[in-house]
Amino acid sequence: MTQLGLEGMPKRLFSCTPSRLTGWSDCPRRYRMTYLDRPVPQKGPPWAHNTVGAVAHLALARWWGLPRERRTPAGARALVETAWKTDGFRTPQQAEQWRGRAGDMVEGYAATLDPDDEPLGVERTVSVKSLVLAVSGRVDRIDLRDGEVVVVDYKTGRSRLTTDDARGSLALAMYALACARTLRKECATVELHHLPTGEVLRWEHPPEALARHLSRAEALGEEAADATEALADGGDPDALFPARPSSRCGWCDLVRVCPAGLAAVGAPQQPWAGLAE
Ligand code: SF4
Repeated sequence: MTQLGLEGMPKRLFSCTPSRLTGWSDCPRRYRMTYLDRPVPQKGPPWAHNTVGAVAHLALARWWGLPRERRTPAGARALVETAWKTDGFRTPQQAEQWRGRAGDMVEGYAATLDPDDEPLGVERTVSVKSLVLAVSGRVDRIDLRDGEVVVVDYKTGRSRLTTDDARGSLALAMYALACARTLRKECATVELHHLPTGEVLRWEHPPEALARHLSRAEALGEEAADATEALADGGDPDALFPARPSSRCGWCDLVRVCPAGLAAVGAPQQPWAGLAE
C-alpha cells in the first residue's frame, strides 16, 4: 500500500463517506456517474420507499429535539405528519395509506424508547482518519449504555435483517471507528434497528474485526482513488469504472442511462415497487 507520493510527499488522503466506499464496491460505473461525471447524469424518479425512510429518519431525529413532555409515541406520529411527502407513490391514495403506515411504524418504535435516556448524538457527524482515508458520515443515533458507546442505524425497508447484516456492514464498522475517534471513547458495538418489525440486530466487533473492516475500506478507497486519477489522466472511463450488472440494477437510480444495467433487468422497477405489501 503506497502512502507516500512523489519525492516523499505524503499522498493525499481519500476523503469519503462510508456509502461512497460501498458505492465503489457495489458498482464502479454507478460510482463514476454519481461522484465524477459532470453534469451528473439524469437520475430516475424518487422511490416511495426512500420517502418513507427519509420521513421516519427525520421524525425520529426531531423527536429527540422536542421538549421532554412531548417526547411521546403520539409526538413521534405528529412529526411524521409534519414531515410527510408524497414522492414516488403510485397514487395519492397509496401515499395516504403509507402516511398512516409510516406513522404507525414510528409511533410504535418511539414507544420502545426512554425519552429520558438522551443519546450522545442524533444525526451526528463523526469522522476518522487513517494513513489512507479520511472518512466522515452522519450516524442516526449514538447511545451511551452502561458506559458503552453504541452506533444505532435505523432501517425501514421491507426485508428482514439478520445479525450478519450488522456484523458485515462496512459502513457500521466505519461509524464505530469514527465514533471512537470523535467522542474519544471506545466504541465497538453497532445495532440495526428495523422499524417495521421492531427488531434490533446487535453486533459487538472485536478489535481485529474493526481492523479488518478498516483495511477493506482502505483498499476500496485506494482503488477508487487510483481509478479517478487514471481517468483524469485520460484513461478509458468504461475500463476504469466497469459496470457490474446484477438483478439489483432495477433499483439503480441510473439504470436508465446504463445500457449494461438495462440489459440485465429489462426495465427499471416502478418507483413504488420497494414498498411492503
Ligand atoms: S444499472 Fe447496474 S450496472 Fe448500471 S450503474 Fe446501476 S448498478 Fe451499475
